This record gives sequence, C-alpha cells and structure tokens, in this order.
Amino acid sequence: MEKSSPFFIPESSPEEIKKEKAAARVLRQSSWWKKKLSTGLCCYCGRRFNPADLTMDHIVPLVRGGKSTKNNIAACCKECNSKKKHMLPMEWSGYLDSLHSDDE
Ligand SMILES: [Zn+2]
Repeated sequence: MEKSSPFFIPESSPEEIKKEKAAARVLRQSSWWKKKLSTGLCCYCGRRFNPADLTMDHIVPLVRGGKSTKNNIAACCKECNSKKKHMLPMEWSGYLDSLHSDDE
C-alpha cells in the first residue's frame, strides 16, 4: 500500500463494473431515486429541471473504483453529466467552484 497517494484511486475490473452497473439499475427503480428525481434539482449546477431531463451520475466514476451506493450517486442534468464525462477530475472541481463562487 506504500504506492498509494491521496490521488490514487484503484481501477475497477470489468467484472466489478458490471456488478456496479447492475446495482445502479436496481437503484434506478427504487423509491429513493424517484424521490431524488422528483425534486428536479441538478446536484452540480443546482438548476431545476423536468425530472425526465435528469440523469443518474456516479460521483466517483465506476471505472475509477466508484460504487453504486446512495452516497456515490447523484441526480444531475444532462449538461453537467456530459461536461463531467469530458473533464479531468481537477477540471471538474474547478468548474464546480466557478459555479458556486457566485452563489450569494
Ligand atoms: Zn446541472
């Protein structure tokens, strides 16, 4: 474990990813998720959307070792979801900071 640094996140095996995707599908049917969607709020930009326009996002992506657990799953808009996919984690946190810096 000496090699690990605070920035080291283990990669998941294809089997684990498959398992977590299946778990995500189960969560998507849950009342917990439906309740989350019904708020219509994107967890990243905080804007309000039609629940049908919100997507399920893994805060820590599955390929980075993230799990399909309630605290790693967020409802976000398609715009944020696609932005997040194309950004490096550092760029993404910079983007979030810029969103919340003019929150007052
Ligand atoms: Zn958003």
